[in-house]
Amino acid sequence: MEPWQLILQDSIVTLADLKKHLDCDSTALGEVIANFPLRINPYFLKLIQSPGDPIWRQAVPDAAELQDGVCAVDPLAEEELSPVPNLVHKYPDRVLFLVSNQCAMYCRFCTRKRKVGTARMHISKETLAAGCEYLRNHPEVKEVLLSGGDPLLLADEQIGAILENLRAIPSVEIIRIGTRVPSVLPMRITDRLVAILKAHHPLYINTHFNHPLEITKEAATACTKLADAGIPLGCQTVLLQGVNDSAAVLKQLFQALLRIRVKPYYLFQADLTRGTNHFRTTTETGIAIMRSLYGHISGMAVPTFALDAPGGKGKIPLTPQYILKKDKDLVFENYQGEVCTYPEAGEGV
Ligand SMILES: *Cc1c(COP(=O)(O)O)cnc(C)c1O
Ligand code: SF4
Repeated sequence: MEPWQLILQDSIVTLADLKKHLDCDSTALGEVIANFPLRINPYFLKLIQSPGDPIWRQAVPDAAELQDGVCAVDPLAEEELSPVPNLVHKYPDRVLFLVSNQCAMYCRFCTRKRKVGTARMHISKETLAAGCEYLRNHPEVKEVLLSGGDPLLLADEQIGAILENLRAIPSVEIIRIGTRVPSVLPMRITDRLVAILKAHHPLYINTHFNHPLEITKEAATACTKLADAGIPLGCQTVLLQGVNDSAAVLKQLFQALLRIRVKPYYLFQADLTRGTNHFRTTTETGIAIMRSLYGHISGMAVPTFALDAPGGKGKIPLTPQYILKKDKDLVFENYQGEVCTYPEAGEGV
């Protein structure tokens, strides 16, 4: 076994493991775990500094997960939008292809909480082949987003085979991998894995960091290896109550990401996923945070704040309103709140 596999093997997965390692009130947690899987690997466990801190909240089960009368099991209608199992075709030119049912840590706020890490998510040679067959029959799909679960939890050979199969489809131009491995199990980014990924350019990776505490030396090393292999790195952060719902924390996170060569891509409003209602903030919180970022920090460090619309209606950017008035001139506020005017073209003198 590889070192990262040995680390994963030592994960907290049962209530007994949890009680052994963490001082938490375990009432009801057995029932939580029976519904939504638990995995905290030793690397991520070490990032917890105190009970209830931002790392803890992302990883440790909470009784609130069972007291969610608001959210839906599959809010983005992914199952309905899947022409074949595990392939979500929502946009005209790109698809989401779920190739792994495991993650290195089960985020308590996961959008795909209904199935990731459980027997309800069936991925097999057959589903992978059916996905590729669909892509061969749908040349309008130019980009394939590999996700899961976490694609990088598959064995090197499996990852290599999936990438090769995709590259054999001429209409597939771009491959994008969504993975949380750089933040939750960075030692998984081995030289061997990087060599496999590098052989299938143009390949992009969007990773997922939520808090500056996740930017460790190990995470920086993992991202450096990937960036050195010519893989552009983006980050999809989720705005989470009690984790990162403050301008100061996100500023620090986005700037730290740039330093390890990861470009903040999306900041997501939390989805309406059953069992995650306690993580949701108001959309106004996110919009106000965005206002405190634009102009104040490098534009490179500013992601798009987006809401994934319920029912599979797509991602909608939510941006602060800078336009005050638009008639002959455009009147707007700048990032410092000063009122400015721009004369529209074609109005004459
Ligand atoms: C988010 C998503 C994508 C990718 O959207 P981008 O805006 O290109 O990042 C593609 N397919 C599905 C189903 C998605 O949810
Ligand atoms: S890494 Fe992604 S898919 Fe896996 S549990 Fe976390 S949010 Fe869900």
